[in-house]
Amino acid sequence: MGELYAWQDALWQRWIELRTRLPHAILLKGPQGIGKLDFAMNLTRSLLCKKSLGSELACQGCTSCHWFEQGTHPDFRLLLSGSQSLEMQESSATQTSSILKNWTKNIAEEVLDEQQKKGKKPSKEISVHQVRSLANFINLSTHQGGHRVVLIYPAETMNTNAANALLKTLEEPPERMLIILVSHKPQQLLPTIVSRCLTLVAPMPSLEASAAWLQLQKYVDPVAILARASFAPLLAARLAEETVGDVEYNIFLQEIRQPAQFDVFALAEKLQRIEPFHVIHWLQQWCYDLSSSILTGKVRYHPDLTDLIQNLSNNVAIFNLLRYQNELIIAKREALHPLNPKLLFESILLSYRHMMLEADK
Ligand SMILES: [Zn+2]
Repeated sequence: MGELYAWQDALWQRWIELRTRLPHAILLKGPQGIGKLDFAMNLTRSLLCKKSLGSELACQGCTSCHWFEQGTHPDFRLLLSGSQSLEMQESSATQTSSILKNWTKNIAEEVLDEQQKKGKKPSKEISVHQVRSLANFINLSTHQGGHRVVLIYPAETMNTNAANALLKTLEEPPERMLIILVSHKPQQLLPTIVSRCLTLVAPMPSLEASAAWLQLQKYVDPVAILARASFAPLLAARLAEETVGDVEYNIFLQEIRQPAQFDVFALAEKLQRIEPFHVIHWLQQWCYDLSSSILTGKVRYHPDLTDLIQNLSNNVAIFNLLRYQNELIIAKREALHPLNPKLLFESILLSYRHMMLEADK
């Protein structure tokens, strides 16, 4: 527990070099589902550990390590949205997930409480209130005489006010304080925030490394589940556990291959329990394979449907396909805000059918 992933060795070396002249803020960026948060947690724990000698992982035996595992270390703060805290309570696939559960337990309970009382959906944003509540922590001197760490995950979920509040802290960084921003979508962060951080790029693991890790976690068909998750191993493990989505994904794949026949409204209804984000992601992968089939003759995400995709793509104009893919990018951005998923699905599926049939004429 708490070991590094095999593909993070070089990144850890980079961190060791940095440790001798610690920056005030680090931006750790890379695609979702490749272990960035685990890396940031390992980095934090080693920095707070009483026995780690700078180049090593945390000892896991000292009082500091013990507090960190229990989710009670006084020199660490974890900032995340309500919905993220709930997700962490359910996750079991990652190497620091048991520690993260301890750190997010209270937040998740509060969110559930509030949800029951007010019927509100858990927020997907980090609020300005959350960032401001760091003020006491930042202004106090360190409890253990060592470093203090704030970890923000994922940093792009800070709303504008929250980001501006954080900027003030970054402009006057306190002594011996490290702020770590972990981000799947750094392009959504304020440029003024990015410019005050030292950027670390988390590496994407090779297909072999990802498959080997999933095999160790006892997943039977690693390559197939990786293909569904843009080849990000942790995301693959999570999606493989979400059996609810499996049924819908198969329905989606059955319908989407017959653009002339499928009932848009019936399909939208069947998909309405799935997070819009996932459905758009499925469509993106499907369209990626259609365009890839036109441009290179190969498919990436649906290797078992190569012939079928090839046939379908023969009738599609590449320009229409690219335009539709753009539409999906915009839809994905909007899918983060609460709306009626069924209406959204209807709109993007109608648009899909239109695009697929247009070239027939
Ligand atoms: Zn220790």
